[in-house]
Amino acid sequence: MKLRLAQPPLLIDLGRIKDLSYIREEGGQIRIGAMTTHYEIESSELLKQICPLLPECAGHIGDVQVRNKGTIGGSLAHSDPAGDWPAAIIALNADLIATSKSGDRTIKADDFFLDLLTTALEPGEILREVRISKPKGRTGQAYLKMHHPASGFAVVGVAANLTMDDDSRICIDWREARRANDRERRRSRCRRR
Ligand SMILES: Cc1cc2nc3c(=O)[nH]c(=O)nc-3n(C[C@H](O)[C@H](O)[C@H](O)COP(=O)(O)OP(=O)(O)OC[C@H]3O[C@@H](n4cnc5c(N)ncnc54)[C@H](O)[C@@H]3O)c2cc1C
Repeated sequence: MKLRLAQPPLLIDLGRIKDLSYIREEGGQIRIGAMTTHYEIESSELLKQICPLLPECAGHIGDVQVRNKGTIGGSLAHSDPAGDWPAAIIALNADLIATSKSGDRTIKADDFFLDLLTTALEPGEILREVRISKPKGRTGQAYLKMHHPASGFAVVGVAANLTMDDDSRICIDWREARRANDRERRRSRCRRR
C-alpha cells in the first residue's frame, strides 16, 4: 500500500491472532506459524538445535526493530526478491500451508514464489504455516548475504542445506537457493550416491 501498488477496500489485521504465532516440533516436522516474528525465530533455542539455517537467516534481516515487528508469513507473502526468507525456505524444501474458508492447501516452496511481489496464494487465502522436515543425519546449513550498503536488504542471498550419510562420505541430499535483487532466481538440487 505504501508503494501504491495496492489499494484494498478492506483490511484485516492478523496481528492479534495469537494462534498464528508459534514454533514447534511435531511428527518429524518443524512448524512455524505465519505471524511468528523474525526475532522469535532468530532467538529460538529449538531451531538453533535442529535447523540453524532459520535463526541464522532471521539474524540477517534488517535491524532489531524490523526483526521484532516483521513476520515470516508477511515476508513470504510479500515475495520481495530482496527478502531473505525465500532462499532459506526453498533450500529447506518447505511446505507452505495456505488456508481459506474452503480449507487448507499445501504449496511447495519451489512453487510459491511466482514473480516480483507475486505468490501462488489465491484471493481469499492467507499463509497459515511453514512446515519443514526436521533435518536428518549429518546436516550442514548456511545462509550468506551480500547486504545493500544503504538499505541492508539482500543484493544476493544464498542458502544451502546439505545432508551427508553417517560416515560423512556420501552426500545424500543437497539443496541450494539464491535470491537476487535483480529478480533472478535460481535453485538447484542434486542427489548423489
Ligand atoms: C527498514 C526495513 C528494513 C528491512 N530489511 C529487511 C531485510 O534486510 N531482509 C528482509 O528479508 N526483509 C527486510 N524487511 C522487511 C521485513 O522483514 C518485513 O517482514 C516485511 O516488510 C513484511 O512485513 P510484515 O511481516 O509486517 O508483513 P506485512 O507488511 O503486514 O505484510 C506484507 C504483505 O503480505 C501480506 N500478508 C502478511 N501476512 C500474510 C499472511 N499470513 N498471509 C497472506 N498474506 C499476508 C500483507 O497483506 C501484505 O501485502 C525490512 C523492512 C523494513 C521496514
